[in-house]
Amino acid sequence: MQYEVIVLAAGKGERMKAGHNKQFLTIRNVPLIIHTLRVFEEDEQCKQIILVVNEKETDYIYQLLREYPINKVKSIVTGGKERQDSVYNGLQAVKESNVLLIHDGARPFVKHKDIHHLVQKAIQQKAAVLAVPVKDTIKKVENGSVIETVERSSLWAIQTPQAFLLSTIKEAHEKAIHDQYTGTDDASLVERLGKKVAIVEGNYDNIKLTTPEDLIYAEAILSKFEQNN
Ligand code: C5P
Repeated sequence: MQYEVIVLAAGKGERMKAGHNKQFLTIRNVPLIIHTLRVFEEDEQCKQIILVVNEKETDYIYQLLREYPINKVKSIVTGGKERQDSVYNGLQAVKESNVLLIHDGARPFVKHKDIHHLVQKAIQQKAAVLAVPVKDTIKKVENGSVIETVERSSLWAIQTPQAFLLSTIKEAHEKAIHDQYTGTDDASLVERLGKKVAIVEGNYDNIKLTTPEDLIYAEAILSKFEQNN
């Protein structure tokens, strides 16, 4: 089943301490954002990519797309202050879609198999997210002391892509703007509509590169992928 995807690359990535947008850091000499875009470029089911970038980095992105041809990027949109604003701007560029995926540019290791499961689930249930069971024990802490140990069996770490029917995600973002609500992901905006969001079990390799040590994990994951091929 075909889908469109919004890829977000308009963050500042301050936790990466790179001094510039983390999406341009290289893994094996290829910028992180290109690794991520290649996943969708090489997926037959992906119809088009809407790429969201910082205004001042637009020229650089065009330069990168010439250097590493990614033919499915059909629109380049300027991002906003928060991630949610960037998604909203991306949504304005999507005129029609069967299933729309929203993906972090900083997650280069998502697998086609998991994307396809996710798309299937979104067709059936209107909204679906990739996630993995939490491995650590999670505790709620206040003022330096534990106030609760949360039951782990019901905890999942939520990733991207997240997949939606276009009408569902547009309605969710419009309501969030109306209510001046900011969520930490797109699915949470759909949950606020009272709609169910399905969980699709993904893969622990689908990490978001956030801090400098994640670059070391990224190298290791790439080596593992190469050994498995
Ligand atoms: O900051 P965080 O790691 O949660 O960002 C997740 C993704 O959202 C990144 O790929 C980042 O570039 C993107 N983002 C964005 N616009 C923002 C903030 C984050 O496109 N204002």
